[in-house]
Amino acid sequence: MIKENFSLKQYNTFGIDALAQYFSDFNSVEQLEELLEFKRPSTNHSALTTLILGGGSNILFTKNFEGLVLKNEIKGIEKIREDKNYVYVKAGAGECWHHLVMYCINNNLAGMENLSLIPGNVGASPMQNIGAYGVEIKDVFYELEAFHLAEKKLVKFSLEDCQFGYRESVFKRKYKDQFVIISVTYRLNKIPHFNTSYGAIDQELQAMGIKELSIQAISQAVINIRSSKLPDPAIIGNAGSFFKNPEVSNAKFKMLQLSSPNIVGYTLENGNVKLAAGWLIEQCGWKGYRNGDAGCHAKQALVLVNYGHAKGSEILTLSDEIKISVQKKFDLLLETEVNIT
Ligand SMILES: Cc1cc2nc3c(=O)[nH]c(=O)nc-3n(C[C@H](O)[C@H](O)[C@H](O)COP(=O)(O)OP(=O)(O)OC[C@H]3O[C@@H](n4cnc5c(N)ncnc54)[C@H](O)[C@@H]3O)c2cc1C
Repeated sequence: MIKENFSLKQYNTFGIDALAQYFSDFNSVEQLEELLEFKRPSTNHSALTTLILGGGSNILFTKNFEGLVLKNEIKGIEKIREDKNYVYVKAGAGECWHHLVMYCINNNLAGMENLSLIPGNVGASPMQNIGAYGVEIKDVFYELEAFHLAEKKLVKFSLEDCQFGYRESVFKRKYKDQFVIISVTYRLNKIPHFNTSYGAIDQELQAMGIKELSIQAISQAVINIRSSKLPDPAIIGNAGSFFKNPEVSNAKFKMLQLSSPNIVGYTLENGNVKLAAGWLIEQCGWKGYRNGDAGCHAKQALVLVNYGHAKGSEILTLSDEIKISVQKKFDLLLETEVNIT
């Protein structure tokens, strides 16, 4: 049933109290098609602008949404086939991402353990090629099925079609707002290739007293680290990293080192250097900053927060101020990771 003037406060992890002019969830392609036929019950009967919502953990509502918000609730996780080395698992876009990770871990299927506890749903995982602790979903992605809104048909996308990059895919750029992701199939390893070199995973495994590595132990280590480091949206509204980590040429990095010898960066395969956006923001004095209910987290400068009743526009203004100061100090333009609407 379509609801009118519906508060999205419980549907976005920033906890922004924006209204959707119309709102409904859907749990099948047929239901989605029916909802897309809904016309504004006013004079012109025009088709409505639509917004597809998953867990709302990577979105900032800066105003009320004039149109139809459709929350994807398509569920289901199944092993669809296997070969010598891999098992292929298909999940509905409305499944909770972490439930899928736990399903794989409980079935001894390797590849997603480093991606434990990322908030949100399966359908959004390819949107920005979610990643953490040295792994991205492109490493386990096989294919997805998406509904083309204009042509009203299902289309399959292979790994190559998705053009995954660092927090990027065709769905965030070229095909923005053109497709609804319906299901995603992942290719999991029967034999694990452990990846513990990133962040504090090794250290945490040691603290846990782990003698023999397993995907279960790595997942638990990641859960422990994330729970201690990142603000819980149930307590303080946030959408994780607000900005992407910028990539600069080696020459630019060397130049930055002259004025900031402690600058944090690591060299990529292409020779460029990835900088830690959190460090840049911290150097500009924003860590722990608060103006009203909009702020920059006291432990993680990369995470902008809503302490209670901040408006999305206030968070956006703060993010613009941060961008300007980073540009002034380092001559670098930060790119927003969160989807602004
Ligand atoms: C505390 C915290 C920690 C986080 N840590 C990480 C991290 O480590 N790594 C990381 O990559 N991200 C991280 N994130 C960001 C976020 O969890 C991911 O981007 C996640 O994939 C978003 O999923 P969602 O279902 O909540 O998407 P939403 O916020 O609902 O949607 C995000 C975008 O995708 C679109 N969309 C959603 N579902 C569909 C669909 N089925 N079809 C088409 N478009 C769709 C929406 O319109 C929107 O533009 C974190 C967020 C928080 C709050």
